[in-house]
Amino acid sequence: MSQYIPAVGIVGAGPSGCYLADAINRKLPDGRIDIFDRLPTPFGLVRGGVAPDHQGTKNIARQFERTLGKPGVRFLGNVAIGRDIAYRELKTAYDVLVITIGALQDRRLGIPGEDLDAVYGSGQFVAWYNGIPDGRDLDPRLDGKSIAIIGNGNVALDIARLLGKTPGELATSDLCAHARAAFEAARIEDIWLIGRRGPVEASFTTAELAEFGELSRVAVLVDPSQLPQAMPEGLGDEQRKLAEKNLEILRAYAARGAQSERPVRIHFMFNAAPLAIRGDGRVRELVLTHTRVEHGRPVPGGETFSIAADTVVSAIGYRSTPFPELPFDAARGTVANTQGRVEPGVYAAGWCKRGPQGVVPANRADSLAVADLILADLATCGASGKPGGALIDSLLEERGIRPVGFSGWQKINAAEIAAGQGRPREKLARIEDLLTAAQG
Ligand SMILES: Cc1cc2nc3c(=O)[nH]c(=O)nc-3n(C[C@H](O)[C@H](O)[C@H](O)COP(=O)(O)OP(=O)(O)OC[C@H]3O[C@@H](n4cnc5c(N)ncnc54)[C@H](O)[C@@H]3O)c2cc1C
Repeated sequence: MSQYIPAVGIVGAGPSGCYLADAINRKLPDGRIDIFDRLPTPFGLVRGGVAPDHQGTKNIARQFERTLGKPGVRFLGNVAIGRDIAYRELKTAYDVLVITIGALQDRRLGIPGEDLDAVYGSGQFVAWYNGIPDGRDLDPRLDGKSIAIIGNGNVALDIARLLGKTPGELATSDLCAHARAAFEAARIEDIWLIGRRGPVEASFTTAELAEFGELSRVAVLVDPSQLPQAMPEGLGDEQRKLAEKNLEILRAYAARGAQSERPVRIHFMFNAAPLAIRGDGRVRELVLTHTRVEHGRPVPGGETFSIAADTVVSAIGYRSTPFPELPFDAARGTVANTQGRVEPGVYAAGWCKRGPQGVVPANRADSLAVADLILADLATCGASGKPGGALIDSLLEERGIRPVGFSGWQKINAAEIAAGQGRPREKLARIEDLLTAAQG
């Protein structure tokens, strides 16, 4: 190992960046780690993606907070790479650079009508209700009776569940005030959950599926003829286990029947591929075709039909947003990398490396593996004695940018918790408010 202590820069203070900072800090306790985020707040999708009524999942942020507060680790919030500091400049500053920018951009459906009013990507929609500044002003149209959510993952379930909950059921959440007001004013009666494949291929998890059963005003409608009698051949162990548990719950929902006294209906519709979104300026109808699943893939070919939909949300996955000069795999929508190596001295971890799959803890193993790779490379190449954060500090100063440090985040955190008044917190959702709170 070189006599130099390597200067490490991490771009993105989400789970992957925090797990990485922790792993490198443990292995190189004398090293200096700078962790950047484009937002004044850390924790990525733990703050901005995880559903506001899943506070238990958000507790992991406390562990990340301990990492950001460690000596040798520096949080630089409100610094967007590609806008405030160039990738090239980071490479000049740091011996080791790790890209952990996640995947924030919605994948498009690629069907006619996608740009009509009241059609949203789930990333935008979730950013809006979770108080991420980019989404704050989305103001989605929830003024109709029917909403179609396309996708069969947990994000689709999150959106349906939040819309289905009563204000009382949301009282212990940190759903932002603007979203609470919009949900209370909404008069949605039908929520469609549309999967291009069948219930066996759905990627939502059993705990999330079971939560629908606890919603007081919601009838969950499942057509029993869509549930297979027997498991298809060729499933892996994990998929089979998940599918068996999910089918058990879906059968229980199907057995409940219509529950017609309940004012909100969540309809599961499997094996249905969207073909077009139609409307008169805003969406009014979703046109679909039945599918069958062959080798795990949906094959359209059944008859065409349509459902009334006043709002459409697509929850079909995400792509990373590259900044200039970052090697990027446009087909996969990820940072171009070979098992975490991007180019000499540059690495990637988390969703921007693997694609948008896996829960928060899944990023830990990934970050640990990349940290091992970094240490192995440093052992052979050594650190080159780059200037590290001092160079970045002078560039930021020249450009009049004041990063939000860890103490700034602590002030934001305290202000939000105080504003919660019985709720976990009331998030500040505008950059200027966050920056004011960071000043204390
Ligand atoms: C809607 C939704 C709900 C989810 N719910 C759950 C759940 O309930 N439980 C669970 O375990 N998992 C959940 N997940 C998955 C979990 O959020 C991810 O596994 C995890 O957040 C991925 O971590 P990451 O660090 O790779 O990316 P991210 O969490 O996206 O973090 C990336 C960070 O990089 C920053 N960044 C991006 N570009 C730049 C730039 N140019 N300059 C500086 N910073 C930048 C971003 O601001 C962000 O803070 C959910 C995901 C979504 C989308």
